[in-house]
Amino acid sequence: MSKMGAVDITKVSIDAKFYFKCHKGIQCFTKCCSNIDILLTPYDVVRLKNRLGLTSDVFLEAYTDMNIDPVNSHPHAMLRMGDDKDRKCPFLSDEGCAVYTDRPANCRYYPVGQGTMKKDGKDGPETEEFYFFVREKHCIGYNENKQWTIKSWREDQGVDEYDKINSTWKQLQLRKNLPGKTLDENKQFQYSMASYDLDRFKRYIFESDFLNVFDVDEETQKKIKEDEIELIQFGVKYIKFIMMLEDSMKLKKDADKYKKKR
Ligand code: SF4
Ligand code: SF4
Repeated sequence: MSKMGAVDITKVSIDAKFYFKCHKGIQCFTKCCSNIDILLTPYDVVRLKNRLGLTSDVFLEAYTDMNIDPVNSHPHAMLRMGDDKDRKCPFLSDEGCAVYTDRPANCRYYPVGQGTMKKDGKDGPETEEFYFFVREKHCIGYNENKQWTIKSWREDQGVDEYDKINSTWKQLQLRKNLPGKTLDENKQFQYSMASYDLDRFKRYIFESDFLNVFDVDEETQKKIKEDEIELIQFGVKYIKFIMMLEDSMKLKKDADKYKKKR
């Protein structure tokens, strides 16, 4: 077993039991909403920007920083914390979380952490989820007497829906680039647009030469026009294609006529 600060990275199963209760009257209420780093998933951004009535580009500009992973060069959005000494979450109010029913997946999991690792599967590499506990000194919810399993905690916090929608994107984050390749700025831009800036991505699909280059059937077009969850899944396919990981998109016969560097 090894420990990194408050994180006990002993892997535990979904049936692991723990005592915990978090409520408004608890002494440490909202202490967990400062001095933290929260990685956002595509579905987090969809929920938050819709909650705030913002377009994805305005939300990203106002509330996130786009970081580039130094190892695999993939972009990922982090919730931008306040620049005060406590680095408070922008959604923290005197009453608690102002976006509670649309809070990000990482906030829902807390004080449970969730990770994904690669393992060898029957048909090649597969991903496996694992869990661990985050035990920060200020969090006294562990002293309460309500018992959970990680499974029942996940259900209670509504995290299953998030994981289901984000699973293909999370797998993508673990994919390696082609040997010796890092993503150039154009590919990083496309990757972040297709992950997070979904209003822009939709315009790119329907208002550029995209549909002259890629063969996208009518039914898929209808789905991605109307449903942002379908658009997230389509975005993952597009990213796999631009990273040359899979032939996940079909090019039209005369695509070369329309292809240009964007
Ligand atoms: S620190 Fe722990 S118990 Fe306190 S509000 Fe945050 S999650 Fe709840
Ligand atoms: S989004 Fe809500 S729950 Fe998450 S850190 Fe911010 S205030 Fe806390």
